[in-house]
Amino acid sequence: MKGDTKEELKSLLKGKSSFDAPMAKYTSLGVGGRADALVFPQDEEDLREILQFAKERAIPYYILGNGTNVVVRDRGLRGIVISLCRGFRRVRIIGREDEEVLIDAEAGVNLKHLVRFTRERNLTGLEAFTGIPGTVGGALAMNAGAFGSEMRDVVKSVTMMEGTGSVMIKERRKLRFNYRNLVLSKGSIILRGILGVTEARGGEVVAKLKDFRRLRFQSQPRNMPTAGSIFKNPKGTPAGQLIDELGLKGHRIGNARVSEKHGNFIVNEGDATAAEVLALMAFIRDEVYEKRGIRLTPEVHIIGEG
Ligand SMILES: Cc1cc2nc3c(=O)[nH]c(=O)nc-3n(C[C@H](O)[C@H](O)[C@H](O)COP(=O)(O)OP(=O)(O)OC[C@H]3O[C@@H](n4cnc5c(N)ncnc54)[C@H](O)[C@@H]3O)c2cc1C
Repeated sequence: MKGDTKEELKSLLKGKSSFDAPMAKYTSLGVGGRADALVFPQDEEDLREILQFAKERAIPYYILGNGTNVVVRDRGLRGIVISLCRGFRRVRIIGREDEEVLIDAEAGVNLKHLVRFTRERNLTGLEAFTGIPGTVGGALAMNAGAFGSEMRDVVKSVTMMEGTGSVMIKERRKLRFNYRNLVLSKGSIILRGILGVTEARGGEVVAKLKDFRRLRFQSQPRNMPTAGSIFKNPKGTPAGQLIDELGLKGHRIGNARVSEKHGNFIVNEGDATAAEVLALMAFIRDEVYEKRGIRLTPEVHIIGEG
């Protein structure tokens, strides 16, 4: 991106922007090259300006949440990376529908914050998301889930901005959720979701949170950089179990290693490159196919130039 284009983009926005941004710093796995531009729109108006700017100059854009399920390749990203993590952080109760309490959560809200918000009000329904380090936008886009619950179970509607800048609200029945995916039209950006929860009895919420946290910490590496589950679970045996059964835990390429704690997590031991992570993924995929005849597909989104 040329210097004057950067200056122009910067001057358009109320929110912050940075250029040649090291994506390793903005993703939980900590690998990958730089993005031409990383922008943090402050509100919808800001976001619309960015989209218009990108459209007029045919510059590609990419939406990033907390970067906890993406692998950025080593040569980074051309175009504009848009993060709603600073401007879209409001969460509030907006009313009731039958037995349910409706929560309006903006896309940049951390799930950790959202879960705390419900715990403090003794509302139940979101406990399974405790410990998922993403944002509401990322969790909706990925249909994130754990312990038998997924985002699709709690969502009432999603508000999105199209690449043209127009905003639309889609009700639950019009949203197509799949395993770890919400079908979005190309370039659509989730702005907020309305989620339905219910009032809890006694200490139910705190007890569930305690249980889920314990299970998560027992089974996942939490003190090393990772991108969560690398592969989607195929039908039948979970990906982590397949990898474990083939004795691949601890296998490494460079500084990328299959976690000893969970076969479906790759940890960055320090200075891993995206090329090492991707080579390790290819190795696992080939081994699983050769020995078990099962094709693993990535859950992580692999983006940027290699
Ligand atoms: C330690 C660890 C544990 C994890 N455990 C789980 C788990 O139990 N269950 C689970 O499902 N996941 C888990 N994950 C993966 C990840 O945290 C979730 O998928 C999370 O929902 C991703 O949110 P994010 O904000 O980080 O999104 P990102 O990783 O930044 O983005 C993921 C995808 O969502 C898209 N996206 C993000 N925001 C928006 C938006 N506003 N509009 C449109 N598209 C958007 C991105 O373009 C990208 O395609 C784990 C990850 C880690 C590191």
